[in-house]
Amino acid sequence: MRLSRYFLPVLKENPSEAQIVSHRLMLRAGMIRQQAAGIYSWLPLGYKVLKRIEQIVHEEQERAGHIPLLMPTLQPADLWRESGRYDAYGAEMLRIKDRHDRDMLYGPTNEEMITDIFRSHVGSYKELPLTLYHIQWKFRDEVRPRFGVMRGREFLMKDGYNFDIDKPSAIHAYNRHMVSYLRTYERMGLTAIPMRADSGPIGGDDTHEFLVLAQTGESEVFYDDRVTQLTLGDREVDYDNWDEVAGVCKEFTTLYARTDETHDAALFNEIPEEHRKVGRGIEVGQIFFFGTKYSESMGAVVVNDKGERVPVQMGSHGIGVSRLLGAIIEASHDDKGIIWPEGVTPFDAGIVNLKQGDAAADSACESLYKALQAKGLDPLYDDRSERAGAKFATMDLIGLPWRVTVGPRGLEKGVVELTSRRTGESVEMSPEAAVEKLAEIYAAHK
Ligand code: ATP
Ligand code: MG
Repeated sequence: MRLSRYFLPVLKENPSEAQIVSHRLMLRAGMIRQQAAGIYSWLPLGYKVLKRIEQIVHEEQERAGHIPLLMPTLQPADLWRESGRYDAYGAEMLRIKDRHDRDMLYGPTNEEMITDIFRSHVGSYKELPLTLYHIQWKFRDEVRPRFGVMRGREFLMKDGYNFDIDKPSAIHAYNRHMVSYLRTYERMGLTAIPMRADSGPIGGDDTHEFLVLAQTGESEVFYDDRVTQLTLGDREVDYDNWDEVAGVCKEFTTLYARTDETHDAALFNEIPEEHRKVGRGIEVGQIFFFGTKYSESMGAVVVNDKGERVPVQMGSHGIGVSRLLGAIIEASHDDKGIIWPEGVTPFDAGIVNLKQGDAAADSACESLYKALQAKGLDPLYDDRSERAGAKFATMDLIGLPWRVTVGPRGLEKGVVELTSRRTGESVEMSPEAAVEKLAEIYAAHK
């Protein structure tokens, strides 16, 4: 993309309504625009990151064997009357009447609808196990929408639902989700710690929340700081191997890590003092095992291998896709702007032409732009006739991890400058070498 032709409405001033850095930077970088309290338009730059995050979520879900589908945002109230949640859910549910006076709602989550799909089409244990998921907009009429996309009223969520014949198989599905979530967050450059949590209105026996540590997080967290060192790295996990998957979960859930809802002061005090930490965190996902809560009330029954009719065992698993943008920025920024991890950056590299109109600089930039695209990379070329300082400030604000700076003086020596947004370090090299280097860096993230 050429910046002169793009739509990037950056703000010079700090917007006064933003209380936290991620909200401020998303507004300043022209990523979102608020249309009503907690409801946002996704401007091109924000939309690009949202799509990249969605893509990673899809890839990791499909790797775990989970199947995508798409359910609607509007749901009939009758389904929710069956589970008893139409009355239980309260004011967070946006209730709507259609022209025939039928009660509808904008879905805050989809347990009822997926259970309806399941009971209509599946009747035998032979069709199990099954995990279906979608990435769809949700609406929750939050009392206090705030912090931009972190606590919106309309927000994008990945929600997945497993259907299993018995509890051991459903626990494996729970564990498989935990591992797939760990991989998902790691690819986004985040450390998200699974913490034992309380099940709340969804109800259930077992649940973990995934928290990204940040001062601005809404949850109070208590943890052994050695959990922050754990990583999956590039190990391959066989999702069909129950013991291996359970082993990874054990590795990530053995050290103490809890939210205030389940905090146990006595257990916490057993942690060696130098590792005992109290902090704040952003909830970026949650997994639940809830057994037959919905299948019993809604009649989702299957025949097992003994010919008996049994309610199916279920769980539900959510990732806050739109909230993740805020969480990533909270975890990765400096006083100049955002610093995108390579896995989610809207453009792979920025090209800054120091002297637009200079024949040598213009033609070197054009060649670089095309060479990067030929490598499958997505560059943003700042081809505007602005001062160098203004161009650098824009690149720093929008946070592309790599910048190639091209100017007549360097070109005389045959070099351009490759700069890391994270470290600020610059290295001079030939344009060809810069293209190779960037291709190499991104090969590790694709
Ligand atoms: P919270 O405790 O933050 O209100 P929740 O526990 O009610 O969230 P879940 O039902 O677990 O939310 O939804 C799955 C994920 O969706 C959450 O982990 C969170 O990342 C995201 N999410 C929930 N509510 C919002 C919201 N209002 N705005 C943006 N993302 C949200
Ligand atoms: Mg939750």
